[in-house]
Amino acid sequence: MKVRVSFIVVFLFSTISIFAQLPYRTNSYVNEPNSEPREHPIDVQRMTLKVKFEPEKGLVKGIVTHVFKPLRKTVDSIFFDAIKMKISEASVNGKPARYSVTDNGITVYPQQMKWGSIDSVSFVYEAYPRSGLYFIGWNDTTNRCRKQIWSQGQGIDSRAWVPMYDEMNDKYITETIVTFDKNYHVLSNGTKLNEQSNSDGTKTWHYRMMHPHAPYLLTLVIGKYAVETRKSSSGIVNNLYYYPEYKNRVEPTYLYSTESMDFLESFIGIPYPWELYSQIMVQDFTFGAMENTTATTFGDFSFVDPRGFKDRSYIGTNVHELTHQWFGDFITARVQKHVWLQESFATFYPKYFFKKYTGTITPESKKNFGEDAYEWNLRGEHNSAINASEKDRLPIVHPSSGSARIYPKGSAVIDMMMYVFGEEEIRKVIKHYVEHHNYANVETNDLYLAFQDTLGITPDWFFDQWLYRGGEPHYKVEYEDIRNVNGRATAVHVDQIHTTDELTGPFKMPIVFDVYYKDGTKDSKTEWISSIRHNVLIPNSSNKEIAFVLFDPGSRVLKKATFKKTFDELKYQVINAPHMIDRYDALIALKDMNNDGKELLLQQVFEKEQFYAIKNEIIVQMHELGTPNAINLIANALKDKSEDVRKAGLNVLKTIPLELKSSVEQLLTDESYAIITTALEKLCDQFPSSADSYLEKTSNEAGLYDQISIKSLEIKAGKGDQKALDKLIDYTSIAFEFWTRRNAMNSLKRINYLNESLILHLLDAAWNPNSRLSSSAIEVLQYFYQQSQYKQLILQAKKSNNDSKPWQKDAWAKIIR
Ligand SMILES: [Zn+2]
Repeated sequence: MKVRVSFIVVFLFSTISIFAQLPYRTNSYVNEPNSEPREHPIDVQRMTLKVKFEPEKGLVKGIVTHVFKPLRKTVDSIFFDAIKMKISEASVNGKPARYSVTDNGITVYPQQMKWGSIDSVSFVYEAYPRSGLYFIGWNDTTNRCRKQIWSQGQGIDSRAWVPMYDEMNDKYITETIVTFDKNYHVLSNGTKLNEQSNSDGTKTWHYRMMHPHAPYLLTLVIGKYAVETRKSSSGIVNNLYYYPEYKNRVEPTYLYSTESMDFLESFIGIPYPWELYSQIMVQDFTFGAMENTTATTFGDFSFVDPRGFKDRSYIGTNVHELTHQWFGDFITARVQKHVWLQESFATFYPKYFFKKYTGTITPESKKNFGEDAYEWNLRGEHNSAINASEKDRLPIVHPSSGSARIYPKGSAVIDMMMYVFGEEEIRKVIKHYVEHHNYANVETNDLYLAFQDTLGITPDWFFDQWLYRGGEPHYKVEYEDIRNVNGRATAVHVDQIHTTDELTGPFKMPIVFDVYYKDGTKDSKTEWISSIRHNVLIPNSSNKEIAFVLFDPGSRVLKKATFKKTFDELKYQVINAPHMIDRYDALIALKDMNNDGKELLLQQVFEKEQFYAIKNEIIVQMHELGTPNAINLIANALKDKSEDVRKAGLNVLKTIPLELKSSVEQLLTDESYAIITTALEKLCDQFPSSADSYLEKTSNEAGLYDQISIKSLEIKAGKGDQKALDKLIDYTSIAFEFWTRRNAMNSLKRINYLNESLILHLLDAAWNPNSRLSSSAIEVLQYFYQQSQYKQLILQAKKSNNDSKPWQKDAWAKIIR
């Protein structure tokens, strides 16, 4: 999945000393009770689900059968997870059985079962799930909304619509048999065995997995779709679902779909582990995307046309979810604390794909590929990890380590494995590790053992410092140009200045030191740094003048570094360092320097550099200088061929200088919808007398999810246009998806307008199970409630609505504080 945030800070230092005596660790230094795999008396082999729906009511009617082997010598009760379900029948091996039901599940009491037998339990049930399965658009009386049903099982939500053993540590074959209106498409995991018409206008779809998978990966999507089919080089069928009216979005959305499958098969070294692969978009998705086995679901906000692609690309997410088909679906973490084995790998491989892919690259997607992009992505990962350590230093291997650790930090750790032990070596380790746990569960120690089995090495220190302990190194670096009787040398002093305690020790890593000379040559040395203080001597036998020194060129080591440099050193570095990230770091260090040569230097670097992140940083620094040359540079930025650079140029302008007015006006016809939207807002705000002509100029543009239309309506409504106001309020209604609704409600907040119908739309949104919609709506209602002119209106709405459901009460409690 990508991306879910949860930070729980738990430090249990008392447990540390107990574990510190073990020879090597297979567990985290910060232990948490109940983080071991859940105990279960049976091993489920197969789950067969027959299901029907009454979508307007949000009702699931199902019959589920679990076939299993007892894991205990005798079994006389079995618990199945099931949230608030009505069970009308339970049977064991086909005969009615005694059972009891609570809000969390069903316990069945079979006649004694024994080792070696194969048994089954069936339930006939009904559920009104609030999570796990979502009913979209069925209550839109205006009939404009898409009508869909879709599931989202991760973390433990499948149990909200199917009674099942719902944990990662039991994997089983699933079979889904769905009966629904014949005019819809139904997609579930595995191969479609049958699609049969019934006499009542319904059809029955029958899907079945060939291999076991974890229950959180169960999927069901029902909606109206068309399908484009492609094949990977190895012949795997890729079904690319799309909304039939938007065929032009297939190409930009699904760019590199089969190419990345070819890449992963080759670079993981293991064939795609399932019989087919589908990708399907849904409305109001609660996450970015979800790697359900054989069938990834993603939010339709990533379903973009060729111009929308300039603002939002699905490529990275696409490769992320595809990677999960191996890391997560094929091999599955046994328990939450090892989930980095899924998310970190799914974060690493897209980055790796962008670096290593050698096929055709379209001009529009070029910025994602190559070494510069790799360094930039890695830097983003490093920053996330360092920032997370400001709050706590939980290890990656921990149930509450948080998304910054299980996604980016873990991905940076895999990069460091390649850096330390060799790229081909790590690929060998990973291949072995995945191969030896096919369709099974894994934990971090399984990866560790693969190092021993393939390379004969035991990198316990690496696992210890990067996975089982927390924190990152902070190096303080200084150097001296030494001349003495032995000749000339550069002495680099490295101190590890981070706080060390039982959770974070001194780090051991190989570090590259590069000394660049003013004649353009360099000396290089790699040393293992492991102590708190370390000195490195790099001989300068030809007696050259030092231009600058790099500590860890290319920034492969996850760290903080303090290394003070002079303006001249930074000038050499920003021009001459071979790695983009080292030039970028020089630029950042120049930020607070006031030197006469700085403006000229920034201009030169802007001309020379291709990578957008460097150009964007220069735009910010030049804007701060505020000189005539700064205006010229921003004028060039606004014409740059990269939309990212144009955006940076536009965004830096808090007010538009008159010299740049016409350049910004040019952006009203930009290719990027986001740029048009921002330009329109800034221009109308600053030059209100020309607003009508700006609105006229963009009147034919709606933008993706009507973003430009909504901005235009906001501007018009702000000037008292009642029709625009009505249209804006309509956009907040149930007839639209959450992206549009959220956008429109924030527009109305900005113009500070509220009436009864808007309150009803906001309340409907506030009660939506999609928290990205509900939290925005609650926030907007809170904002209005704070104002005396609107307070009564909101209280009246509360009185006249029967809001008795728990989530409705929760929302009200937040709105009225
Ligand atoms: Zn993921």
